Amino acid sequence: GKGAAMVTAVACRLVSQRKQIDEILASFELSKENLIEVKNKMRGELEYGLKKETHATATVKMLPTYVCGTPDGTEKGKFLALDLGGTNFRVLLVKIRSGRRKSVRMYNKIFAIPLEIMQGTGEELFDHIVQCIAEFLEYMGIKGARLPLGFTFSFPCRQASIDKGALVEWTKGFKATDCEGEDVVDMLREAIKRRNEFDLDIVAVVNDTVGTMMTCGYEDPNCEIGFIAGTGSNVCYMEEMKNIEIMEVTEGKMCINTEWGGFGDNGCIDSIRTKYDKEVDEGSLNPGKQRYEKMTSGMYLGEIVRQILIDLTKHGLLFRGQISESLRTRGIFETKFLSHIESDRLALLQVRRILQQLGLDSTCDDSIIVKEVCGAVSKRAAQLCGAGLAAIVEKKRENSNLEHLKITVGVDGTLYKLHPHFSGILRETVKEMAPQCDVTFMLSEDGSGKGAALITAVAKRLHNVGEN
Ligand code: BGC
Ligand code: MG
Repeated sequence: GKGAAMVTAVACRLVSQRKQIDEILASFELSKENLIEVKNKMRGELEYGLKKETHATATVKMLPTYVCGTPDGTEKGKFLALDLGGTNFRVLLVKIRSGRRKSVRMYNKIFAIPLEIMQGTGEELFDHIVQCIAEFLEYMGIKGARLPLGFTFSFPCRQASIDKGALVEWTKGFKATDCEGEDVVDMLREAIKRRNEFDLDIVAVVNDTVGTMMTCGYEDPNCEIGFIAGTGSNVCYMEEMKNIEIMEVTEGKMCINTEWGGFGDNGCIDSIRTKYDKEVDEGSLNPGKQRYEKMTSGMYLGEIVRQILIDLTKHGLLFRGQISESLRTRGIFETKFLSHIESDRLALLQVRRILQQLGLDSTCDDSIIVKEVCGAVSKRAAQLCGAGLAAIVEKKRENSNLEHLKITVGVDGTLYKLHPHFSGILRETVKEMAPQCDVTFMLSEDGSGKGAALITAVAKRLHNVGEN
């Protein structure tokens, strides 16, 4: 009768709705072949970045860092460190002791960088940084001391020495004017001069991946790779000098900041990008740039999720078809929310509560779908990073002419640390994609601060730089 027909109609609609959801989720799935392709393409781009003829135009920039060795335990002294470009801006005082009682002690203060400063003028940004340093020195009672400073600056820089670095381009949430192409150490020195209140001896400019590698290298000499899965995504590793064609020297090793976030900017992974990835890219501060980073890092995963949820809602598959004001708001799904939503111990009712906090009224069915969407997006991110890391460890293995390589990767970043599944999937993928490498992941205890101080200590010992 009529009732049965209506039941069938509803059932059909549910089946077709589920099919639509599954199709969207499936577009985030990567086959083994996909991952092998990502690994091989990454490997190719690493080589382009190292070669003289292609270095300048490579999408994976492969920037020399002038860090030529890991710490040996003889580093010592008191240092200041700055950490700019992650979730927080921090100023640190780091005390390193050498010898048998070697240890690192740190004091730090977190400062906010307001949006209008991140996206204002370069002068305003650096004046703000110096203002924060002044407050910190005051607070610690060390305003008169002229301490050596290591600047962890987590953006791509072309370095001509350990204490020089020209910003190639801003990434993530920064867009201050008049900085690209300029030396960040000069900009910091000038801001200190403008304030005319204290003096600092800026010894090193350091990428966060390098700081992370150095911090883990302090404990484990096998650590020759640094990896950040946080607001942004990037890797550095120790490369043979002879493979770095733009460097004159052919002996020894140097740490290369790969800037792998730019992988895919030439379209080489377009076949696995979805329309949601394209929307996130187009709505970002740097459209067309950092495409791999936009599929793998904390600043963008929540945005991909939001784009999918908008699409599902438009198709009447979520939130009763109502696109709320919050859903229209960029950046609502921070890494900590994604991590929460995907936590296995969390009951659906709690997922609904989190969505409620974000201003999203959900039914029980909605909360299941949201959780599935988050899972698909973060799983793909972890797999992509795993395939990328496989390319790096394989290169290291070939460099060392070994059948099997044992290597440690120092890791930091909110996505790696907070997300319940990211690190596990990452590890599994590296194992599958690089079976001849035995990779240990070592969590860095505050890599950006400690690492900058260690590099500063090594630089002071080796080159006596910064004493001008
Ligand atoms: C930057 C890298 C940095 C990474 C992690 C990227 O956006 O380009 O220099 O290492 O974020 O912070
Ligand atoms: Mg950091």
